[in-house]
Amino acid sequence: MKLGQTKTAVLSGAASEIIEVQADIGQGLPGVHMTGRVDAVMKEARDRIRAAITNSKRPWPQGRIILGLAPADMPKTGSGCDLALAVAVMAAEGKVSARHLGHTLFLGELSLDGRLRPVRGVLPAVVAAKNRGLTHVVVPVENVREAALVPGMDVGGAADLVSVLDWLDGHRILDNVGPATNSTDMPAMTDLADVVGQDEARYALEIAAAGAHHLLLTGPPGVGKTMLAKRLPGILPPLSESEALEVTTIHSIAGTLSEHDPLIDRAPFIAPHHSTSVAALTGGGSPMPRPGAASRAHRGVLFLDECAELGPKVLESLRTPLEDGSIRVLRVGGFVAFPARFQLVLAANPCPCAPANDADCVCSPTVRRRYLGKLSGPLMDRVDIRVRMDPPGVAALSSEEPEPSAAVRKRVLDARSAARERWAEYGWQTNSEVPGPALRRRFKLPPTVVRPVELFLRDGRITTRGADRALRLAWTLSDLRGADTPSETDVAQALMFRDRGYG
Ligand SMILES: [Zn+2]
Repeated sequence: MKLGQTKTAVLSGAASEIIEVQADIGQGLPGVHMTGRVDAVMKEARDRIRAAITNSKRPWPQGRIILGLAPADMPKTGSGCDLALAVAVMAAEGKVSARHLGHTLFLGELSLDGRLRPVRGVLPAVVAAKNRGLTHVVVPVENVREAALVPGMDVGGAADLVSVLDWLDGHRILDNVGPATNSTDMPAMTDLADVVGQDEARYALEIAAAGAHHLLLTGPPGVGKTMLAKRLPGILPPLSESEALEVTTIHSIAGTLSEHDPLIDRAPFIAPHHSTSVAALTGGGSPMPRPGAASRAHRGVLFLDECAELGPKVLESLRTPLEDGSIRVLRVGGFVAFPARFQLVLAANPCPCAPANDADCVCSPTVRRRYLGKLSGPLMDRVDIRVRMDPPGVAALSSEEPEPSAAVRKRVLDARSAARERWAEYGWQTNSEVPGPALRRRFKLPPTVVRPVELFLRDGRITTRGADRALRLAWTLSDLRGADTPSETDVAQALMFRDRGYG
């Protein structure tokens, strides 16, 4: 019996599992058999590795080849194990040195001519390999930078199977740098200095950033709702090291990382189209489910433009992530949970005809009311700030230079750290997480301060939930002022942001 052993990994939901590959070449009719709960997609590897080895000018072994993948009880799919399977076959045949095989993770899909193709989920795979005590990882060159995000691993990138076999035999050094940063790959910088006028909406954006409040912007087309929303990540705190790793892992599994600059260390901005499906928003797919837009917006911003055009099912699908911060997606053998804790920014035209100038609206009052009324209910209960944007007047265009994002971000960071300190013992990070009862009881404000809210409640102008939203916002306004607790003015101002978006 001739045996070759290698290690690889497969995605299992939001993490990766290390897979032990064994290739056994024995007597019998020539053929390749795979065991260990591999699905039809993975079985196609048999043809790919045979063609790749032959086209790499290496002889295909004579005899009956059994490829076993362990642990046997785990369902396995995809093409990322191709390289490990091919190397195991070559090792069983004794055509390659086995000295690296015990401590190396092999990842990559093989094309028929022997070239390596990039795969998704490299980051979680390398993390799993490191946890297993492996020290080396060999990946397609396109995945080198992603693999190198895990410190302390010896990363080698290869363009084809021949390079990997040469490296194993000590005839070649693998690429440990990966594709150079491509300047066209860098996202365009967006800054609040580009936004002229819109003082109230700019302030609303700052408050949203400071308290992590969900935000609704309404206004006619072309008024700058999208332009403003895109500038929210620029005033949010940078991601911590562990948050960056978490967010980058989600994008690795989704297959949306840049080859050149894979680390996501700023809040992502994800803007699905209003025609998006529930599956595109929440994730799914077979056999290896991908995280949807809501998960790719994890620890960042989910921007839904023209949100009144979203179907009721799509709006409804946002409820679970808003409540739990994660989404369950169906896959073979059960569910997988992808994290999805995002800041929601909704934008809407005031009515279906959406003229640039409100005076030109041809909708009936009933149609206008119904249009934004679609958004009411449990989803809107979570949106603390609503603001109406109008075209900037001539005065705004000639006014002084708008404040840049850096200045706004500084105030946001100060306000955030004040809030974090205050709520630390309760486990809340931001004001938006503080539950209503806590605002009304444990952190009850003096009667003189909450008087505006009491008056609104008594007159039936707000609900209890609306009152909670106003109190939550008042704390953020107070934090932005650098005060210890909200004043009556903070509370009154918070009430103004209550439902400005409507009408
Ligand atoms: Zn209209």
